[in-house]
Amino acid sequence: MMDDLDKLPPDLAFQHDGHVTDVVLSSVADGEAGIVPADALSHLDGCDHCAERLGAEALLSVHAGELLAELAEPSFAPVRVAEKAAAKAPASVRGLATLPKRAVLGALLLAALGALPAILDQIAHVPTLVGTIGHAMLMLGRSAAVVSKSEMFPALAFAASAVLMISGLVVSRVSRPGSSNDFAQEGGV
Ligand SMILES: [Zn+2]
Repeated sequence: MMDDLDKLPPDLAFQHDGHVTDVVLSSVADGEAGIVPADALSHLDGCDHCAERLGAEALLSVHAGELLAELAEPSFAPVRVAEKAAAKAPASVRGLATLPKRAVLGALLLAALGALPAILDQIAHVPTLVGTIGHAMLMLGRSAAVVSKSEMFPALAFAASAVLMISGLVVSRVSRPGSSNDFAQEGGV
């Protein structure tokens, strides 16, 4: 078969343990899946272990590309570097179509984890009151699930509605900053 001359030979595609080699992983991650033999690609598709390795390899590949672009001296053949960077993006997009879904999901998960600090930072800017009430309701939801079978349920249901009522009062009090005296009078009488 003439096509096989363009592919990696089997001893470069498969390790002794039966999994595909790093050469295969980096080829696929770089959008060069064309040189990978079909049996190696189908192994990649069906093997969790190799899918995970590919996910890591894909991230490394992207990061390595970014790193190289950053490290490249502006005076050192800047046009070629720019061309390489431009050519890299479409290649990775094309490569994505051949990546196992699990590897892509793994990479997305890692990206989401990377974004987590930013998300938490955003949440920290949400008014504290909203967070407190949300937390209280979450606690109530959890306790309700745990004690709904127990004989303490009526008491806890009462406590739950009390907390909700207090939350509502706090909200109405905060939304009308000048009316804290009214609140005290209404509550007192
Ligand atoms: Zn494998």
